[in-house]
Amino acid sequence: MDTIGHWINGAAVPSTSGNTSPVYNPATGEQAASVGLASVAEVEAAVAAAKAAFPGWRSTSLTKRAEIMFRFRELIDANKLKIATLVSNEHGKVVSDAMGEVSRGLENVEYACGISELIKGSYSEQAATGVDVYSIRQPLGVVAGITPFNFPAMVPMWMFSNAIACGNTFILKPSEKDPSAVMFIAELFAQAGLPAGVFNVVQGDKLAVDTILEHDDISAVSFVGSTPIARYIYETGTKNGKRVQALGGAKNHMLVLPDADLDMAADALIGAAYGSAGERCMAVSVVLAADAIADELVAKIADRIPGIKVGPGSEPDNEMGPLITAEHRDKVKSYIDGAPGDGATIVVDGRENLPADGYFVNPTLIDNVKPGMACYDDEIFGPVLSVMRVSGYQEGLETINANQFANGVAIFTRDGGAARQFQFDVQVGMVGINVPIPVPVSYYSFGGWKASLFGDTHMYGPEGINFYTQGKVVTSRWPDPAQSTIDLGFPSDR
Ligand code: NAD
Repeated sequence: MDTIGHWINGAAVPSTSGNTSPVYNPATGEQAASVGLASVAEVEAAVAAAKAAFPGWRSTSLTKRAEIMFRFRELIDANKLKIATLVSNEHGKVVSDAMGEVSRGLENVEYACGISELIKGSYSEQAATGVDVYSIRQPLGVVAGITPFNFPAMVPMWMFSNAIACGNTFILKPSEKDPSAVMFIAELFAQAGLPAGVFNVVQGDKLAVDTILEHDDISAVSFVGSTPIARYIYETGTKNGKRVQALGGAKNHMLVLPDADLDMAADALIGAAYGSAGERCMAVSVVLAADAIADELVAKIADRIPGIKVGPGSEPDNEMGPLITAEHRDKVKSYIDGAPGDGATIVVDGRENLPADGYFVNPTLIDNVKPGMACYDDEIFGPVLSVMRVSGYQEGLETINANQFANGVAIFTRDGGAARQFQFDVQVGMVGINVPIPVPVSYYSFGGWKASLFGDTHMYGPEGINFYTQGKVVTSRWPDPAQSTIDLGFPSDR
């Protein structure tokens, strides 16, 4: 059985720690490989390679950096199916969904191809007599990314595309549950001409993460994962003097007003709640249905659920695959188990008719859910959609704003005024108006509010460029030495 190793200094290197973690095929429950878990020394080797590569890479011209990113973009595009298949095999999501993941990740590579434009500073001539002032943005040095299992290709691309284009060198610590896709992506980066040491992959667990968080030679850390770990990463990283952006978990609501097209809302909910088996940080997990249309909407969702084809991601007809691990499957089921006792109603029970093998839970619909119930308060991260009945706009809004998470939200309505008021009122970072999963395009930035984000900066797009660079302002003059005088006053520009 293969043991997946690291990518350090431009080459695949076997893990030497002796510690490994199993990598499963979630559709069968069989172990497919092992992944090496880095020791402190292995992380240090990657940091040393990245540190050694930094002076050369930051001195590389913007044109050359863009050229490498363009070549990398072509290679990812040409190998999309291979990357998607690697993702599907270890994550379980269907290949068509994994292709979508790779495409959305690729948009960040495409954005970074414009680095010459993105990193431009500003210039003010004659700020004082004979004095010019200009700003430049410079890379930070060695930066790290720590990523979750649910988007093993896209989330790393959110981070390293901009970080590397800005002139930093990068250490990626992917999820130990699905580590293969980024190893192949590292090969493609090398083929594109990226110098050795600029992009490194260290497989590992908490030890590798802690080594990154404490390492003096790492300047910044980007994290995406669950809220408790995001909080830990933010606190530990900033305590150690690093710049940190840490995106956490979510509980995304969709408010459906009485005037919405209910067939369109139900179609959108099926995709947003059950796509990728609900293992998306932007999945809709709660629908807030206005009382006037709640019965009808619940019926429309329930009617559609039997049409969802559940099965191994490798079979092209399937639309929803398994969950990531047996433990996660059991945890998701436990929320369904507990819902009736809390007073909710199971309308469609995803614990029934499951395939014999693999970590499957079928699409589940729970009605009459209220705050205070575990299936509402916690992030389930599975194919479970909860319905909460609300009197209308105001109660829906208040429910959303009272939730600890604030990643994504959607409103479905045909009333432009209500939608505009919602966008103004709602305390959430990413808002969809008749769009169920409002993941921003790569030239905006991605991030939630409240317990869904620790730090000040959202990910990728303009905020990503700012995160991976530091500003410098230069004040310059070229005076005639003959006119030089001594002046102890504070410099004046008037
Ligand atoms: P996770 O927090 O368990 O793991 C994320 C990363 O942290 C992994 O690389 C893992 O190895 C590492 N890690 C895990 N436990 C750790 C510990 N104790 N100390 C240090 N490092 C540790 O998350 P996950 O289960 O891989 O991913 C699912 C979660 O990610 C969900 O909560 C989901 O909402 C969230 N997520 C959020 C976004 C977002 O943009 N806000 C995007 C994707 C996923």
